[in-house]
Amino acid sequence: MEHVHDFMPHGVCISWDVPLLILHVFSDIFIALAYFSIPLGIIFFVRQKDDITFKPVYYLFAGFITACGITHLMGIITLWFPIYYIEGVFKALTAIVSVATAVYLIPRLSDMVALPDLKELISLNKQLSDENTSRREAEAELQKNRSMLSESNKMLSTILDAIPVRVFWKDRRSVFMGANRLFLADAGLSNVEELAGKTDFDMPWGDASADKFRRDDAKVINTGLPQLQIEEQFVDASGNEVWVNTNKVALLNDHEEVIGLLGTYEDISKAKQAAQELMLAKEQAEQANVAKSEFLANMSHELRTPLNGVIGSLHLLTESGLGNRQANLAKMSKNSAESLLGLLNDILDLSKIESGNLQLHLHNEDINDLLTEVAKNMAARAEEKGLELLCPGHFIPSVVAKIDRLRVKQILNNIIGNAIKFTDEGSVTLDVTVVSQKASQKTFRFSVSDTGIGISAAQQQKLFQRFSQLDSSSTRQRGGSGLGLAISRQLVELMGGRIGVNSTEGLGSTFWFEITVDTSKRVRLAHTDSQLLSSLNIIVMAELPCYRRYFDDVLTNWHVQYQVANSPHQLSQMLDLAGEQETVLILPMDFFLSADIDKLIREHPGDYQFVLLASQNQLTRLPEKVEQFDCLVLSKPVVQSELFNALLGFVPDLNITVLKERPSQNQEIHEIIDARVLLVEDNYINVVVAKGLIEMFGPTVEVAENGAEALSLLRRQSFDLVFMDCQMPVMDGYECSRQIRTDISGLINTDIPIIALTANAMRGDREKCLAAGMDDYLAKPVEAETIYQTLRKWLNKHAGTNEPMTEIPTDREEELLVFDSALYKLRLMNDKSLMEQVAVNFIDDMPKQIAQLETLIAEGDGVAIARIAHKIKGACANMAALEMGELALQIETDAKQERLTQLEESLMQLRESFDRLVTELRQSLALS
Ligand code: ADP
Repeated sequence: MEHVHDFMPHGVCISWDVPLLILHVFSDIFIALAYFSIPLGIIFFVRQKDDITFKPVYYLFAGFITACGITHLMGIITLWFPIYYIEGVFKALTAIVSVATAVYLIPRLSDMVALPDLKELISLNKQLSDENTSRREAEAELQKNRSMLSESNKMLSTILDAIPVRVFWKDRRSVFMGANRLFLADAGLSNVEELAGKTDFDMPWGDASADKFRRDDAKVINTGLPQLQIEEQFVDASGNEVWVNTNKVALLNDHEEVIGLLGTYEDISKAKQAAQELMLAKEQAEQANVAKSEFLANMSHELRTPLNGVIGSLHLLTESGLGNRQANLAKMSKNSAESLLGLLNDILDLSKIESGNLQLHLHNEDINDLLTEVAKNMAARAEEKGLELLCPGHFIPSVVAKIDRLRVKQILNNIIGNAIKFTDEGSVTLDVTVVSQKASQKTFRFSVSDTGIGISAAQQQKLFQRFSQLDSSSTRQRGGSGLGLAISRQLVELMGGRIGVNSTEGLGSTFWFEITVDTSKRVRLAHTDSQLLSSLNIIVMAELPCYRRYFDDVLTNWHVQYQVANSPHQLSQMLDLAGEQETVLILPMDFFLSADIDKLIREHPGDYQFVLLASQNQLTRLPEKVEQFDCLVLSKPVVQSELFNALLGFVPDLNITVLKERPSQNQEIHEIIDARVLLVEDNYINVVVAKGLIEMFGPTVEVAENGAEALSLLRRQSFDLVFMDCQMPVMDGYECSRQIRTDISGLINTDIPIIALTANAMRGDREKCLAAGMDDYLAKPVEAETIYQTLRKWLNKHAGTNEPMTEIPTDREEELLVFDSALYKLRLMNDKSLMEQVAVNFIDDMPKQIAQLETLIAEGDGVAIARIAHKIKGACANMAALEMGELALQIETDAKQERLTQLEESLMQLRESFDRLVTELRQSLALS
């Protein structure tokens, strides 16, 4: 223990200087305070901070400082009271705590170094605070959006409640999730909360319709495809049966997965009821319409039958050689009956179109043929009023179009008829143009221009309405029913076309219509072979511009060398230039008959051939001068094919038999003349009329009064054609036709053509006749032209073959007719007085020509012989003297080829043929 006494003695510091003592005491007190306050601060700090890392370091450090503080405190106490052992113990404790702190701290130092430094902490802190700010802003925005969403939700539900459509939406299991007010009312619910968890099975319509609704839902949910416009019926909460039109579409989430469906429906009960009522009304109207059609059919039958009798009898009466006065009266009666029939037909047509009973019959038709028919139909009317009719007014290429011939003709007849009616001087011209073309489909525009009274713009509005006639005195004077244009419009519209008019009052009108049709080219007719005429030199005299335009167009298309003179003076200049060249002169008959032409020919002697354009009236009394100049006369309106054939006759060295222009035609005519026709008809007047009309064209007619009688005749005798009335006692036409067509009928010919001849003109009649085995159908009253066309169609076994109109003759062994009376009749339209007159002129004139020919043969002048033989050939063509024509041609050819030795023999044959012809003419035409 001695060495313990080496330490400072107890209370040694008392002996120190006061300042030293104070210095030590105070600084030790402050140090001790500091040593104890620091750990307190650290512990307080650590306890406050939850997120602090390395917490034990802080505690160890606090412990270490506390231990240091205690050691220091011991040092102070030791100054006063020596407690070195206790101090040593505390130092050791301090050392342990220090070591523990170091042991804990050192391995963690690297981690602690990695902790952010202060700067970083400050920036992180700033970032944090920025984020905080933007989070607060976002929260504010979110809040704003929430309130907007809630507002728009409110608005949406207001809209959903306001619209007159029921709206609902369901989840994938078809459980209702929401709906609008109207839907809730149907479902008998007062608010949308009551809908929660419900399906269609819980609704008033559950029993009857839920299954179906569920199936429709499943379709939408499984496929994602909408179900639209489903018309369905259900019972609502009030027990009403409601018809609705429902739409269901799938509801999709952001991943395009179906999460449910949205359905809407509207109440269509009223519309449904109206439609049912309408349907009922329509059925009733249709029944009424059928009744009306039946009434029309009967009326048509009843009115047409007697009219048929009247018109037919009058036709036969006018043919029976009446005196002038009677003929006039008969003609007037026939005209009146025909206008009555026209009016009746108009009314029937309009009713048929309006009741949908009119059907178009589309066939391939040659447009040229169709226009020729219209032109011939209208010629007399135009001529009566002194108007020039050009139908058409330009060249028409050969084209076949699929049209309803009858109906197109009806429209053309109406508008050309009107043009003539409302024009007092000038011309009426038809133009046909192709306005557009797609493959073989062409849109044709037919336009008829006149130089008539015209129509004011205001009045043009009223046209095309039925029973509309413009209220002017001149319209009233000119007659008409006011139905024609209405029917034309309906027909054009039925054909899918359009119709219209351009007109200036006082200057004239152009009525036009356009139809689109299938077409094909026809290459068989000679008048399409434009090169044939190219060797001709032609001069036309045409004072009227419409004719100048016509000839310019046509002759250019035929590649002819031509000139058109518009005055005698110009013609004279052209003749000057023509000189000796063989020239064909095309002249109006009036001009040819005037003194001007005589003067011109005297002044310009040359080699002329004449083609004259005459009115129908002039044709009946051809003046001497026409014969004298061996003119070829064409009747107006000029027909393109006729002009072509006429010009073809002037082509030198063209080996064509004009007479045999269509060998099949002669054959065809004989097939008609030699035919035996069976007419099955019970009405006496109809028998007289139809028999008369058929016999006019040559066939022999047998009559049977009913089907049974017809069958017995057909068993015993051979016939070529049957005209069959439909309604007859004992056995009607349908039954009779059915029996004819059965093999067991025992008839000679079960394939015989049967043509229905009936007053029924309603839709379906034609089909009914064809179904009974008949081949064709004619509605009464039939006209001569229709009978002729039917005979041609069904008796001509060669019909439809495409023989050319011109044919190079080969060796002909068949015997030619001396006089082809049928051909002659056809040429002169069966006009008895004209036929007689032409024949008498021929018999008078021909001997002179034969005598002239004889003299020339004796003189051996080949050129002159050929010319006169050519002239004789032309005259024979007009006379249908086939045998003589052939002989004249032979002489002409031989003369041209200088085979003069044979001419004597041919001349003798020509004389003999002429004698035979005179005998036949006298017999056939009963000439004195
Ligand atoms: P209508 O049988 O009276 O001729 P439409 O229907 O054919 O009947 O014609 C109706 C009216 O249109 C005629 O009455 C006439 O007033 C007028 N109209 C028709 N075509 C012409 C025309 N080319 N020129 C002047 N007016 C015409």
